[in-house]
Amino acid sequence: MLARALSFVATIVCAVVLVLAFVTLPPSQIETANAYFQPTNIYRSGLVGTKTLALTFDDGPSAFTDDLLETLGQHKIRATFFVVGARVRQHPATMDRMMRDGHVIANHSFSHAQLGKRYAQSPQLLMTQIGNTNAAISPYVRPGQGLYFRAPYGVWRSAHADFLNNDAELKHYVGPIYWDIGGNISYDDEGNLRGAADWDCWAHDLSANQCGRGYMREIRRKQGGVVLMHDIRERSVWMVQAMLPELIAEGYTFVTLDEVREFDKYKAPVTPEDVPVAQGEGTVPYGATAR
Ligand SMILES: [Zn+2]
Repeated sequence: MLARALSFVATIVCAVVLVLAFVTLPPSQIETANAYFQPTNIYRSGLVGTKTLALTFDDGPSAFTDDLLETLGQHKIRATFFVVGARVRQHPATMDRMMRDGHVIANHSFSHAQLGKRYAQSPQLLMTQIGNTNAAISPYVRPGQGLYFRAPYGVWRSAHADFLNNDAELKHYVGPIYWDIGGNISYDDEGNLRGAADWDCWAHDLSANQCGRGYMREIRRKQGGVVLMHDIRERSVWMVQAMLPELIAEGYTFVTLDEVREFDKYKAPVTPEDVPVAQGEGTVPYGATAR
């Protein structure tokens, strides 16, 4: 009887050890991203004034993401998609294409939760939001792609970083990534949009064209930056379709977050042996000539 009980306990212990080993193993496919969660949003991209745009699309994937991928592909533009984990499993073909087309696939929580006080008090809840999304996107993350996180609504606490950086896998994330362009609607003295945010445009029933004018004015004023948009409404796709030819004609170049050099400083190598002998352009995964 005692032997059977001991054997049962041993089996349970083995199972727990196996599960723990699996959970804490660093993802073998990730080489360049050895970053750590930051205590506050990363507000500085270094792209303002460089005529370089990093288009970022949040909250998808959705039924409209394929049209957006088609549009980006026509212009040979690569972007970054901050996906919501719960939506990933509903759009496997879209996720496949996103990966094949060379876009950066990033983490925007599992249920688009506001990661405030409640999550600081029960930090293990962060694992359900960020860890589960990491698991959902990992089949679609290309080898060598960096891992990036953006907090829903930009809500973040330093305690979250402390907790997540103790996780052998999640500590590889750079984030939370903020934005330079697309944060809110603003008007000039004549009542014309001088800045826009697509979700708020649609809430105010503005047209894709009107909203795009707002984005264009903010882009021209700042001459580059991380652009916040969303791929869950058809109007956002129409807006992007209208904007891209103009931006290209005006000489803007487009990068993914992997090509934003300002973020390199958050990618501290895990061990000294991992440091390349000569750092610089040679470490750029692709699009090295983009800027
Ligand atoms: Zn969002």
